[in-house]
Amino acid sequence: MLNFNELKPEKVFEYFDVISKIPRGSGNMEKISDFCMDFAKEHSLKAIKDDACNVIIYKDGTEGYENSPAVILQGHLDMVCQKEEDYEIDFEKDSLDLYVDGDFIKAKGTTLGADNGIAVAMIMSILADKTISHPPIEAVFTTDEEVGMLGALELDMKNLKAKKMINIDSEDPEVVTVSCAGGSDFTAKIPLERTKKQGEMYFCYSQRLKGWTFRR
Ligand SMILES: [Zn+2]
Repeated sequence: MLNFNELKPEKVFEYFDVISKIPRGSGNMEKISDFCMDFAKEHSLKAIKDDACNVIIYKDGTEGYENSPAVILQGHLDMVCQKEEDYEIDFEKDSLDLYVDGDFIKAKGTTLGADNGIAVAMIMSILADKTISHPPIEAVFTTDEEVGMLGALELDMKNLKAKKMINIDSEDPEVVTVSCAGGSDFTAKIPLERTKKQGEMYFCYSQRLKGWTFRR
């Protein structure tokens, strides 16, 4: 159990802890999706869930901002489930076991799921708050992002009016990415020679392709 008194904003970490109790590896989206729908109901917010388990929750603009252009807040519901070899957990059913270690929140024996649970927690804390001024919000929770953005591909854009979106799934603290033209998958064939080695593995390549540099 996290010690909420030491973590601020409290609501964000409270939701993060609750979300961490819901198994939500990619492909296991029903429960977390239903949790979002229950959250909306509990806060009297209109919400829709589609066949891909994506959820959109709508919140009106606050006083003075009722007619402002809507803004989408977006995060994804799934997480990558990895564990230490000897740690026992069934990612289909079990909760993560969170703890605070200095300035960090960690999960015992497993990945933490902050990617992208922290976005879900942040968005929920804004949706639940009655003191923050904001324009109309369209909160978009997509599914199965980690395995190819499968939920986002199924999202029906007719359900969204906003022209501006804040995606809360960036990589680096204090870095804001402005604008994105989309993503693409590609297959690259890289010639390699195999040799037998022992020890820790570190893989790195850099490939220049028609003026673009891809790094992994
Ligand atoms: Zn992510």
